[in-house]
Amino acid sequence: MTKAIGIDLGTTYSVAAIIEDGQAKVIKNAEGENLTPSVFAETAQGHKLVGSVAKSQAAANTEKTVMSIKRHIGSDYRVSLNGRSYSPQEISSFILRKIKSDAENYLGEEVKKAVITVPAYFNDGQRQATKDAGRIAGLDVIRIINEPTAASLAYGLDREDIQTILVWDLGGGTFDVSILELGDGFFHVKAVSGNTRLGGDDWDQRLLDYFAEKFLNEHGVDIRSDKYALQRLKEACEKAKRELSCQPGVKISLPFIKPACPPAGWSEADRARAGRTQNGKLKDPEVSIDRETFEAITSDLREKLVGPTRLALSDARLSPDEIDRIVLVGGSTRMPSVRELVEKIFNKKPYVKINPDEVVGIGAAVQAGVLTGEISDVVLVDVTPLSLGVETQGGLFTKIIHRNAAIPTSAGQIFTNAEDNQAVMDIHVLQGEREMAVDNFSLGQFQLTDIPTLPRGKAHVEVSFKIDVNGIVKVSAQELHTEKQTGIKIDASYLLSDEQVKQAVSEAEAHAEEDMKKRESLEINIQADSMIRAAELVVEEKKGKLSTSYLRQIESVIFKVKEAMAQGESGLIKNKTEALRKLLEKM
Ligand code: AMP
Repeated sequence: MTKAIGIDLGTTYSVAAIIEDGQAKVIKNAEGENLTPSVFAETAQGHKLVGSVAKSQAAANTEKTVMSIKRHIGSDYRVSLNGRSYSPQEISSFILRKIKSDAENYLGEEVKKAVITVPAYFNDGQRQATKDAGRIAGLDVIRIINEPTAASLAYGLDREDIQTILVWDLGGGTFDVSILELGDGFFHVKAVSGNTRLGGDDWDQRLLDYFAEKFLNEHGVDIRSDKYALQRLKEACEKAKRELSCQPGVKISLPFIKPACPPAGWSEADRARAGRTQNGKLKDPEVSIDRETFEAITSDLREKLVGPTRLALSDARLSPDEIDRIVLVGGSTRMPSVRELVEKIFNKKPYVKINPDEVVGIGAAVQAGVLTGEISDVVLVDVTPLSLGVETQGGLFTKIIHRNAAIPTSAGQIFTNAEDNQAVMDIHVLQGEREMAVDNFSLGQFQLTDIPTLPRGKAHVEVSFKIDVNGIVKVSAQELHTEKQTGIKIDASYLLSDEQVKQAVSEAEAHAEEDMKKRESLEINIQADSMIRAAELVVEEKKGKLSTSYLRQIESVIFKVKEAMAQGESGLIKNKTEALRKLLEKM
């Protein structure tokens, strides 16, 4: 097999790596950098720019510069540039194309294959769209792997002494927590959790809001009303945030900002304080913030990191002190307050020797090396974040693949027709943890048609779920007599955010008892209904063949079951159904 590169296609930066002499190495881009900004732009003349050139002209060309496209991948979001509309996968493909070409220059050979990483919570549509982006860029994407899993691959190759690691990945746009068990080159992902809408960009936004207010109050400049100034402030905020990771305070100055008139009602003293001249002109306006204030205005964002961490721990049935090592991934984990939070939760210092910006790309290269045979003895096992299944009779949710099942995986279950001569079966695919279908997330529906006309319970339809190594879900249904088959690949119209997963799990826990009662009551009714039908069939068919008193007895118990059903008394329905079953058994 030819060489394959590993790509961390990040929200803010991307990294490519390769295995050379059995070691994973970051591939430098054409600019000589390890990190390529995930930025795309078009000039007025239609020239396409990617990476740092696109980033550095962003302030002057905000309308034609695309940043953080990863936040939209898999959605129907469109970017319009010079009269052309682009999908997120097309924009991502431009970034991938640069990475491919830079890697080819570095390696001196054509690069055809790649492993690309995605956040653990990317749904099927987002994974598929990432794969498509690779394909458009001319790459054969041989595997999509989860970012935190990639990090542990990079980290854990020679770490047999460490058994349980927790990967805390806070990048530009997403937050992922994964707990992995390592041993003898075997990786088992025990639990994953996260938030697809939380990342360094949110910290930038807080600083931006803070400084925009300060510019308005202290200098009378409304930065938000000027796109160019706003983009300059955005960039300055990201830089200030980084500086605050190693300095106690920062100043932002925006020289040559458009001189705006001071707000009406400003006194001479206000003007002087704001550094304005007599005629209202502005000198270089400057604002500042110290780390303490920055940490205070972002404390709620840090709080949001706790829930997914606790959820992953409880899913893995581990307490914080059972984690051998905490690995930090993503540039945003450089913030001291974030590191302090990790330390507070685990009562242990996080492991920071590994470069948080490059570790995912390196892990992707390790996976690529495993697939091309350059690295052996490493096995990777990933898991499903929520249970998957179908809606069954009475609106119940029947789980077919359970939460945190190792992938790739497949499982099936045989269902029968609920009605006589039922020619069509609706298959409603869901994911979640609740007992009733309506309380879970709908992933899609399809129909199996032309089922042979058979009495109730006689047609057999096998519903199979298959989750491939990339986490992509395929569901099929097959009628076992005719072998007629149909199926779907899961529609991507839903987004599985951390909030949804967290909510799904906590709601399932909160409603567990009530849901179980609902389920039991429904199952009792379904059984009663089946028993009545079977008994009525017997009465119909055996008229004249069995004693009239026996048949009367059956009819009387059928009536009692129906009566109990009408009263909605589960205990009574169960009793009477049992009585009917025993009576039929006698026969
Ligand atoms: P990633 O998606 O992993 O490349 O992470 C990028 C994010 O990390 C961006 O939001 C960066 O602003 C942020 N970042 C990088 N370095 C630092 C730093 N030293 N302190 C705080 N945030 C940082």
